Amino acid sequence: MDSSRILLSMMALARQGELAHHDGPQSLDSVVSRPVLKRLISALNFRDAKTLQHSRRVALLSVGMAQQLGWDGRHLRVLEVAALLHDIGKIGVPDNILLKPGKLSAEEAELMSLHYNIGADVLQACRLDKEVIQIVFDSHSYFDAHIDESRRMGADIHLGARILAVADAYDSLTHDQVFRKGKSHEEAMEILHGDAGTKFDGNVVGALDRWVEKDGMAYVKTEGQAADDVESSAPQNLEASIEAGSLCHIFSYLYVLESLYDGFYVLDSDLRFTVWSSGAEKLLGRLCSQVLGKPWSSRLFSYSDSSAKRLGDSECPIHEVMETSRPACRTLNVQQRGGNWIEVEVQCVPLIDYHGTLQGVAEIFRDVSRSKRNAPQFRELKLAATRDALTGISNRGELEKHLKQMVQEYMQGDTDPFSVIFLDIDHFKSINDTHGHGVGDRVLISVARLMQSELYSGEMVARYGGEEFVVLCPSTEIDSAMRKAERLRSTLAATTIDDSVRLKVTASLGVSQIDADDTMHSLLHRADTALYNAKESGRNRICKLLAGDVVDSKQDDQSVTKIDGSPFTFEAAFTTCMVASMGVYKVSGFVNELEAQLIDANKDRVIMKMGQSGFFSSWGSSDKRRPVTVTMSFSEPEQQSAKAASRRVLVTVHVTPIGKPPSERIFEERAKRVFEMSRCYFAAD
Ligand code: GH3
Ligand code: MG
Ligand code: MG
Repeated sequence: MDSSRILLSMMALARQGELAHHDGPQSLDSVVSRPVLKRLISALNFRDAKTLQHSRRVALLSVGMAQQLGWDGRHLRVLEVAALLHDIGKIGVPDNILLKPGKLSAEEAELMSLHYNIGADVLQACRLDKEVIQIVFDSHSYFDAHIDESRRMGADIHLGARILAVADAYDSLTHDQVFRKGKSHEEAMEILHGDAGTKFDGNVVGALDRWVEKDGMAYVKTEGQAADDVESSAPQNLEASIEAGSLCHIFSYLYVLESLYDGFYVLDSDLRFTVWSSGAEKLLGRLCSQVLGKPWSSRLFSYSDSSAKRLGDSECPIHEVMETSRPACRTLNVQQRGGNWIEVEVQCVPLIDYHGTLQGVAEIFRDVSRSKRNAPQFRELKLAATRDALTGISNRGELEKHLKQMVQEYMQGDTDPFSVIFLDIDHFKSINDTHGHGVGDRVLISVARLMQSELYSGEMVARYGGEEFVVLCPSTEIDSAMRKAERLRSTLAATTIDDSVRLKVTASLGVSQIDADDTMHSLLHRADTALYNAKESGRNRICKLLAGDVVDSKQDDQSVTKIDGSPFTFEAAFTTCMVASMGVYKVSGFVNELEAQLIDANKDRVIMKMGQSGFFSSWGSSDKRRPVTVTMSFSEPEQQSAKAASRRVLVTVHVTPIGKPPSERIFEERAKRVFEMSRCYFAAD
């Protein structure tokens, strides 16, 4: 399961939830975004129409009872939405439990009860009104019993939750369930009265009695209406069914998170808390009401390393993830509410969309001391930090770790020369565009498998990004690496990928060998340039590039010029060795490498944001807190010899501040560093 992709779609839901909040003064819109409500209801209908019918009836009942208790206006709306969505988490519960005839075993019941947590997670992500979330979550609390010390009881439970609990029980009792027949009104009321004061609030049970007495069975009459509503919310066409299905995926994934881990949270692109699971409440000692919507800070938690040293912002895994845009996995100690420290394993996953933009970060915790968790499955998920989630081969982080080591060993004279192969699928975008992303994904998986089976003498194959793969060939000189590359190229070209569509896929490859002056970056950069040459010269071919072949781009860098005289604008340019059309392509690496966020790109220029905006518009003390907009434009330099024409490009870097720099000097220093970083990245480093 590709966790970051599923969490990304959850962030998309979050954005939809946010937009509609400001839609209008009507009361429903201030409680929930209508499109999001519609999507949730439609997904519940798709997954289990019976549960939706039940939810509709519970909403009618709850509102009726609340009116008996004198409620009106917005409060009724809040309660109605809470009742409609109180079972939404059931979408994530697997069929064998959700639809099991007969009673659930204790274990199954425990898994079933995770739906409360899943529901709360999703409602948080959809940015529902806090009161709705509280009502849904509290509705599972006993009125007068300590089941779980983190739960409220008695009058501390939101009255809406106490009403919802009674409505829920009444409707369940009076309707057929998969495991028993429905009871009569009298029988149901007897049971509810029996539980009044312990499980339920006696006053609320009384209100139900009074309402039914006064209005007869008004609620029963409305049952037909509930059924009609349900009918009309069913996904009406194939597209809507697919969309409902994909929403169900998010729920199933949350079920996995809730059942395998001890807690998690999700931050949005501004690093504000969007989801705070009930497990995180217990594990990290903060209530969801204390963190939701607030910006992340290490001060919210007590983290320490194995030597009991408290961790600051920059030592937390999230910092590393923001810096590298790659997942990280660490073991840390956290302090719980009672004051005791426990050891946890933290997986921190960046949520990066297809455009390379960071949409959020998820942090997933496992209490190391708990052996109860399902070990094999857990290990599988843990691999995600070193493996690419889609293809199962090593990811970029893992590759670079190995490569760094290989470069180091080579420099110490410990090993023979080695080579690197860069492979990029040709016209992959058009495969996606023609056949859909699902087929695109299967092609990526097949290419990874094919590469693994073609290479068998100690090479490491990794997915470097999108449709780019890198092979490390230890103790291999360039000629032998070229032969390996040729084998990959010809086998791929001769293979029909994906039986359902029968696709022919080709790839271009770039090969290079380590040189005495290399760093990991310069070696990768050279192989990447060779790859680009292969693309430029027609694709489905291989190019090699050795250190001596590269023109030293620094030789004829244009001098830095500050073109614009106004205080807060900086512009300078350099030339580098690459084809102009490669500019945008290279920038994606740059964006990943640094903490940049892509704002807009076309083939001639890229606009990005570097650094994070803080609460206030004034700049902070580190570059991270000095946000700037950077525009890089690519053009052909004047006075190019015909031969060099395709190989050199003029990169103009334009920097403006976001917010307020404290002085012109500080802005200029910051802008210069941005420029230097760009130059280092683009020039052979
Ligand atoms: P070229 O021959 O020049 O390499 O063209 P291309 O279309 O292969 O290259 P380009 O870089 O323009 O497009 C790469 C596409 O790969 C764009 C992106 O949407 C897609 N992509 C990246 N990651 C994934 C993924 O995980 N799954 C799928 N299905 N597509 C992906
Ligand atoms: Mg490609
Ligand atoms: Mg590519």
